[in-house]
Amino acid sequence: MKIITCGTCIDGTGAPAIKNAVILVEGSKILDVGEEREVDVPRGRGVEKIDCSTMTVLPGLIDSHIHLALGAGSFYEEMFAHSDAHLLLTGVVNARSVLDAGITTVKDLGTRNRVTFDLREASATGIIQTPRLILSGRAITMTGGHFYFCNAVADGYEEVRKTARRLITEGADFIKVMASGGGTRITDRRRASYSVEELRGATDVAHNAGKTAAVHCHATQAILNAVDAGFDVIEHCSFLEPEGKYPGHTFREDVAKEIAKAGVLVDHIIHTKLDPIELEYKFENFMGLRRAGVQMLAGSDDLFLDLMGQLPLVLELMVRGGMTPMEALLSATSKPAEAMGLDGLIGTVEKGKEADLIAVKGNPLEDIRFLASTALVMKGGKVIPPSPRKIAKDKVTEHAKKVRDLIEEHSLGRVLD
Ligand SMILES: [Zn+2]
Repeated sequence: MKIITCGTCIDGTGAPAIKNAVILVEGSKILDVGEEREVDVPRGRGVEKIDCSTMTVLPGLIDSHIHLALGAGSFYEEMFAHSDAHLLLTGVVNARSVLDAGITTVKDLGTRNRVTFDLREASATGIIQTPRLILSGRAITMTGGHFYFCNAVADGYEEVRKTARRLITEGADFIKVMASGGGTRITDRRRASYSVEELRGATDVAHNAGKTAAVHCHATQAILNAVDAGFDVIEHCSFLEPEGKYPGHTFREDVAKEIAKAGVLVDHIIHTKLDPIELEYKFENFMGLRRAGVQMLAGSDDLFLDLMGQLPLVLELMVRGGMTPMEALLSATSKPAEAMGLDGLIGTVEKGKEADLIAVKGNPLEDIRFLASTALVMKGGKVIPPSPRKIAKDKVTEHAKKVRDLIEEHSLGRVLD
């Protein structure tokens, strides 16, 4: 048994933080948690003490949008010029970096062929250490659509259905569809790629199999189509239109209200790209969607080799965009767990849940930036020793500084003290 003494514990349910808490861990599970005087703390042999009395302990973070294994390079065509073996190797390295950053579960939104399934198999056999991997495998896309080189091209309702079924057979936990263009060069982010009927091919199959469906939407038309087709999560939600000058952005309050009314979750609204025009409209979208009452998840869309583990920065940006630190935390703990149907297992520090825990060096409810100061990572009751490879941590720290400078320069969001 392990006994973790916590200076502060934030359990991820939304309840106030507990001072001087104790967490008991037996095997992979949380046996008990509460104030020190309320928990029956066993003594004697076989009890391992973990001292986090100067730290804040909280649930391991959940990144709702990541691509662990896209290969090395600075744009998609370059990254996918590599072999599947190369993609898998980058996945191995990236998965470890993400875990080091305190992210114990990720939703991977797809790469080529079977690469992420192979990554999960290796993790399950203990060859490598990774966060829990919730996988789409590949993203379904139209002929010539965003990520067409990942080999899940489908046109028409029947082909989309068949491809979704194929992915589920291979081990997909959820279905991901590209409903507009994206960063793939021959595609147009401002235009929808699928009809509502085609999109229904994916949601019908996913829901019939008891799974969820996520959809990539930069174009406003794609967002409208996705809401109609019954998707569970909209990714990016950029509100781009083909008319008008670059970038073609117009935030649509009426569309935001439709999303809220349909109860569709929205994810990866604010990103960490060093592009002032994009950052500006992403902040506008974030604030507008919040005003409309849309429920949000936190995803990083980390995809470059070693620039992995940016979720704490994303949460910081969400707070700059108007969320309370508690709201931001919940969007990366209990809310995504619930959205994935894994709330019986992960997402909170509660009796009976898996012991996926992190300790950080200060209270993130007082300053969200403390989330980037991970000092302990536990996954399934096992402490993960920090990997000696520090490249990702350094890269993320350096990148975060540049993002903050850009935000300050362009007066985006609110200022943190
Ligand atoms: Zn993505």
